Amino acid sequence: MTSKPATLLRGTVITVDPDRRVIDDGGVVVTGETISAVGPFSAVRADYPAATTVGDSRDLVVPGFINGHQHLTGDRLLQSTIPDDLEPGAAIFEWAVPLHASHTPDDDELSATLALVESLGSGITTTVEAGTVAHPDRVAAAARRVGARITLGTWGWDVEEGPFAAPADEVLDRQRMVIERDEGPLVTPWVTLVGHDLMSDALATGASALAREHNTGLTFHLSPSVSDGEQYLARTGLRPAVHLRQLGVLGPHVLIGHGVHIDDDELEAILETDTAVAACPWAYLRLGQGTTRAFRHLDLWLGGGRLAIGCDTENAGDAIDAVRAAALFAGLAKDVPMDPTVFTAHHALELLTRRGAEAIGMGEQIGSIEVGKQADLVMIDRRGPAWVPVSSDPVLQLVWKGVAGSVRDVWIAGSRVVTDGSSTRVDIETITVEAHRAAVSLAERSGVRPAPRWD
Ligand SMILES: [Zn+2]
Repeated sequence: MTSKPATLLRGTVITVDPDRRVIDDGGVVVTGETISAVGPFSAVRADYPAATTVGDSRDLVVPGFINGHQHLTGDRLLQSTIPDDLEPGAAIFEWAVPLHASHTPDDDELSATLALVESLGSGITTTVEAGTVAHPDRVAAAARRVGARITLGTWGWDVEEGPFAAPADEVLDRQRMVIERDEGPLVTPWVTLVGHDLMSDALATGASALAREHNTGLTFHLSPSVSDGEQYLARTGLRPAVHLRQLGVLGPHVLIGHGVHIDDDELEAILETDTAVAACPWAYLRLGQGTTRAFRHLDLWLGGGRLAIGCDTENAGDAIDAVRAAALFAGLAKDVPMDPTVFTAHHALELLTRRGAEAIGMGEQIGSIEVGKQADLVMIDRRGPAWVPVSSDPVLQLVWKGVAGSVRDVWIAGSRVVTDGSSTRVDIETITVEAHRAAVSLAERSGVRPAPRWD
């Protein structure tokens, strides 16, 4: 009970709490930034008679989803233009990298704004930026404007050539500057490197030490394709995750993006060091990277590994829709071993919420609906035909049906950032005009040649 103004969300509540409670006609009270009560609606209503009620028993209330790997800049302004029949690597080095190289600070903010508004529309409240931001101050500004929770670093590689390339010391100085800047409570600074084939041992160890020193996260790409590990083996004499463990880089503070093509020793290195992995299944399928040959993410899951789901980027999945990605993950986890009993929709929802939050080091603050946690909440409207009749198992229905068009309201840290399906902070009509103008200019400056084709 409280005298502070409170909001009471009413609906079937999927808590993903330690007991995995699902409360029919439940209530969640938001006071300030946090959740102050969870229970049957009638009981919560009695305790908070002055609270403003939103929703009714037909709605579904879930924890905000975690997107564990998302590029917020680069190809978002030319979304769904990069062809899907390019040779391996071309989507990145002939398209995405030139686009990143040509981004102005304004492009970064606009791109991130669009990506984060799109994210909220599919119920994503926390996004891990994947390590390719040129102007982090502008991406942080976008997150504040939209009201989204993100982790954020800056572009980090010490290759000889390429946009934003620099010697390891200089890259680490840039990372340190981002980490030491206060961008507000919704922006958690991380150390971000591009990937294992694009960083020296000095950069990898320095970045890991920097993250440890500041008690924050480190993320980088590792082996989405077969050739990644082979190149690394030729350079260092060891497979990537084994070498990185030997260097002392891996640990609970590390979130690897992908980890698709890892051998048994690498699997062990990741599990033993309690390193987390973000799986982005649409990326592997759109790029034809072979995840169906050996779905190691299932082995990580069965081994008790820390996993999150990611949506990656526009050349590798297109939609920023975590439930769509989680359903695909569940399908692969059943299909690859030809065993439908091994992984369920409920497991998939855990990866999007509680376990995803744990994988990114935020399990104490977010990922479930529990008293004291941050009020990152999504209200799903089940009045449309897709939801009729409502299932007796709302988790099954949520994951396999998806949430497209059904996310009605979103709260992050207690602020209502989506109402009736629209951002409360950003006028989409205005940024649509800006985005069309920026896309034409970016394509011209970068030299990429988007064109419709059917051949
Ligand atoms: Zn990525």
